Amino acid sequence: MDDGKLSLPAPGPLTPAAPAPDADGARAGDPFAVPPRGVRGTARDLRRRIGGALAAAVALVVKFFSAIKGVLLLAPKLKVLTTAGTAFVSVAAYALFWGWTFAVGFVVLLFVHEMGHVIQLRREGVKASAPMFIPFLGAVVAARSLGENALAEARVGLAGPVLGTAGAAVCWAVAEATGSDLLRALAYVGFFLNLFNLLPVVPLDGGRAMAAMAPWMWFVGLAALIALAFVYPNPILLIIIALGAFEAWRRWKLLRGSSLEQAAYYRVSPRNRALVGAVYVGLIAALALGMYETHILSAAGHSFRSL
Ligand SMILES: [Zn+2]
Repeated sequence: MDDGKLSLPAPGPLTPAAPAPDADGARAGDPFAVPPRGVRGTARDLRRRIGGALAAAVALVVKFFSAIKGVLLLAPKLKVLTTAGTAFVSVAAYALFWGWTFAVGFVVLLFVHEMGHVIQLRREGVKASAPMFIPFLGAVVAARSLGENALAEARVGLAGPVLGTAGAAVCWAVAEATGSDLLRALAYVGFFLNLFNLLPVVPLDGGRAMAAMAPWMWFVGLAALIALAFVYPNPILLIIIALGAFEAWRRWKLLRGSSLEQAAYYRVSPRNRALVGAVYVGLIAALALGMYETHILSAAGHSFRSL
């Protein structure tokens, strides 16, 4: 692992910038490589090429995030510019689908979630960049690390959904006070966004919490994401699955290794493990309730709650 980590929530999950595969690995996985004579067109060759294409795609995403991290950490003066500039691009992208007002509200909710991570990173004494937005993927915060151990990582991971949930709740309260359907819909999406981020797989905030509780849950979360992708196929889920599989496998290998450093990183007292679990489960319950309360039954043309 290099010294830099990058967090990205979701739809912006927290994503550490993993080291890119070495040049040989990248060459071996070249999806455009001409297959050797004789094996052209065989099923094995096809599988190898699909695997190669996937590996190349993951390497590309990882390289992209590493480059962002480098720029954000080296150029602090660019912070405000990147936050404002990328926020504007994201609003424009979401506005194509949802209209300007909703797009602005959505980016504000993303920003609040991200600031939860930024505030906690600073409390842990870790230098963090300001959030940068990526249309349809969420936002990222670049940091030199995610804290000194799995417990700190869980605190940083959960701080995003904690502040994000508070932000969506404020949105809901204002919706109730003003009767605004727009704010109610935004609150619903905000609750959903934060709930999605609690899926227990590593690039997502829930995976950070699992690092301090039960890292094997990463594979349960990954299986849940794959099942979700079959029900609701979409490219963003596929990107998160590719990153999740890559990161879960990389960390699992390190964790199972005999390194004392790794063992120390994952050592969390039962009391702290229970605390992380309580916050995690409490957040899920609060978010499910928030989604239930702010849901508008559009198909029926009215809300049952208004009857
Ligand atoms: Zn997050």
